[in-house]
Amino acid sequence: MKRKKADIRKRLKIHVRSKGENCDFELTESFCLYWWRHLNDAIFDGELTQPERFEFKSYRTMAGWCRPWRANRLNERSVVIGINSQIWERKAFLTVLAHEMVHQWEWEILACWKGNTMHGKQFFDWKGKLLYRAGLPLTISVDI
Ligand SMILES: [Zn+2]
Repeated sequence: MKRKKADIRKRLKIHVRSKGENCDFELTESFCLYWWRHLNDAIFDGELTQPERFEFKSYRTMAGWCRPWRANRLNERSVVIGINSQIWERKAFLTVLAHEMVHQWEWEILACWKGNTMHGKQFFDWKGKLLYRAGLPLTISVDI
């Protein structure tokens, strides 16, 4: 099991390094879910719950967002994740997805939600882990 996790992380980092600039993808629900599963295993030890859905749109000011799904259901926490459809590089896509998944972790695991505009200590505590586990930066602005 430990070995498997190390392999997932290694393959992910190689992918980010060698294919990060590729623009050969289309943002679809299945594409997002495929990468969400990889990041969940590599970064969050598989602890997150599959999002209720993904949404894609050309948002004017946001690269992505994450919000609780049915926020009153505190025993079955889940989220909806939005990704800006203008994102065209793999690394930018994975960076945005990982960022939103840290918010997902805050909602589901930490059971704490200060709103999407809040990027505090508990958020940036993931910075080193994202880099080490997935080769991804934790940033609040992504060029798309
Ligand atoms: Zn954020």
